[in-house]
Amino acid sequence: MPLTLPDWAPRAPLEPLRLSWLDEAGVALAVLRLDLVDPLVSGNKWFKLAPWLSRAAEAGAEGVMSLGGAHSNHLHALAAAGRRFGFATLGLLRGDPQDTPTVRDLQALGMELQWLGYGGYRRRHEPDFWVSWQRRYPRFQPVPEGGGGLPGAQGCRQLVGWVREQLPALGWDDYHGLWVAAGTGTTLAGLVLGEGGRHPVLGAMAVPRDHGVQEQVRALLAEAGVADAGYSLLDACRGGFARIDAELAGFLLQAEREGGVPLEPVYTAKALMALREEVRAGRIAAGSRLVLLHTGGLQGRRALQAELERLTNYTDRAVDVQG
Ligand SMILES: *Cc1c(COP(=O)(O)O)cnc(C)c1O
Repeated sequence: MPLTLPDWAPRAPLEPLRLSWLDEAGVALAVLRLDLVDPLVSGNKWFKLAPWLSRAAEAGAEGVMSLGGAHSNHLHALAAAGRRFGFATLGLLRGDPQDTPTVRDLQALGMELQWLGYGGYRRRHEPDFWVSWQRRYPRFQPVPEGGGGLPGAQGCRQLVGWVREQLPALGWDDYHGLWVAAGTGTTLAGLVLGEGGRHPVLGAMAVPRDHGVQEQVRALLAEAGVADAGYSLLDACRGGFARIDAELAGFLLQAEREGGVPLEPVYTAKALMALREEVRAGRIAAGSRLVLLHTGGLQGRRALQAELERLTNYTDRAVDVQG
């Protein structure tokens, strides 16, 4: 049966986030809680995926296939959408078969999994990569890794409107900047398109510079026919993608306790920590009102919880020894 478009209009609240280091600097922060869009189809990945699902429906596809790792938020959102809206999903996974909470969810949500190995996964950028998969799964729409590309960015444009329409409820008449964690930069590019130059967009890069976020954002904006402007990028990866250190772990747990917003260490906590760096360095004026997009990803935290606890205990012990 061909895939039909879901009749689903998700919402995300814009909520104030109070933290002592923001209060001390006189900076107000509001968070657009994409983590609350849905318990399963959560975070920015749904918005990147939706235009690809429209394509799949137009093409008369019966399923959707895409790529990711064993903790992929993207595959998780895709599998959840497939289950929710009744279409088949195929996940092409990096590396050798692994048992992670994410992989278990993908299976429980009915996604068919194929493990490509590392070499096989690296081939994903080759022009004929999808040809053989389309031969094997002719009724499946391919979607690039992470739901990227211009369709993925276009799907994130509307989020700027969600911020704008909720400002009055916060008592804000405007804001000074929009912050987001960047992995490929697709979401960031969508926000730049949605802002149309009205507010600067700040991308906190969760990956090292050589991952080419700058180049990808530039290419997406060029493809959309928009000037390469209206945003800046900050290094927020702390030594590598998904690398977690004790300071980050402590910051995350403290921010959660104080602010009451759940975070994960790969993207959202790193973005918030990069914001603290900017505030501490005096680069954000007192009286500023900023908006941070909470891009979700909390499902991926499960596999990292023990590591977070180990790191924070370790710091406590280190302090004890010295003290
Ligand atoms: C994928 C992801 C991002 C990065 O999105 P891009 O569009 O690739 O830049 C940020 N935060 C979370 C939680 C994600 O899962």
